[in-house]
Amino acid sequence: MKCNYCNNESFYTRHYAGENVCKYHFVQTLVDKVKNTIVKNKLLNWDDKIMFAVSGGKDSLTALHIVSQIERDFPDVKMFAVTIDEGITGYTEKRIEHTRYICEKIGIEYNVFNYKEYYGYKLEDIVKLAKEKGSKLEPCSYCGVLRRKLLNIAAKKLGATKVVTGHNLDDEAQTFIMNLLRGDIERIYRGFGPIELKEGFVPRVKPLRYVYEEEIMIYAYTNNFPLFETECRFVSLSMRDSIRKYLNDLERAHPGAKYMLVTTAEKIARSMELSFKAEKIKYCISCGEPTSQDLCRACRLLEDLKII
Ligand code: SF4
Ligand SMILES: [Zn+2]
Ligand SMILES: [Zn+2]
Repeated sequence: MKCNYCNNESFYTRHYAGENVCKYHFVQTLVDKVKNTIVKNKLLNWDDKIMFAVSGGKDSLTALHIVSQIERDFPDVKMFAVTIDEGITGYTEKRIEHTRYICEKIGIEYNVFNYKEYYGYKLEDIVKLAKEKGSKLEPCSYCGVLRRKLLNIAAKKLGATKVVTGHNLDDEAQTFIMNLLRGDIERIYRGFGPIELKEGFVPRVKPLRYVYEEEIMIYAYTNNFPLFETECRFVSLSMRDSIRKYLNDLERAHPGAKYMLVTTAEKIARSMELSFKAEKIKYCISCGEPTSQDLCRACRLLEDLKII
């Protein structure tokens, strides 16, 4: 089979689009898609100070790799990367080491912020404590809230004007289903777009939002990013993992299903615009971070465990 853009042999088929691409055009069209997402949604400005939130996995490294190349054309853009070290033995160390190597290679300043330093405990200690206290929350619920807060603290401390994350189309489709199952209407509204603007938070942008995870995996492979075999050991306990498996089956049977979910979520979010405009942001009475209640969610979770 031939590539849709040249006479070379096809290297990959985009089933959802009915398109065949050679290796060269696979990369070209992927980079173009990311560029279009940035331009169409005004994700980045010519003078932004961009913080890449890099876990060291394939998604965030791909975002770093592609977006830093695109942004090099803008001399007033400043860029640096941050990893949040949750403190999960056997999971974070290698990723940090490798991310440091990649950042050095592409000439980007690199910083690490860790839970232990900011919260006094590693994630694995928090999970242990939560279990002892009989908490019904899964480890990812603690981890997600604490990571988000620390990323915002890091972004403000380092003067970032935008935070680039590696969320891909699969992540976004999973999040939509999770919010539906939890009945979290507000998050369907707030989290749904390639840019998340919320008072008190440095805007978070998702340039890979319309890129399938499978394509990111191939991009990472062709660029020799290591695909770490060790997953976080808490991942299989998460609702997200079950939804991921379900959506993969659905996509195999109905190519384009994940994309439809993400665009449907956007339509729903747009139609909710009027109902959610008025919310007033407060600042947490304990840590000073933005919140809708007196205590932010991170402080509430930690207070329930009596560790603040
Ligand atoms: S899988 Fe869950 S616990 Fe593990 S790093 Fe991700 S969010 Fe944190
Ligand atoms: Zn081609
Ligand atoms: Zn707080």
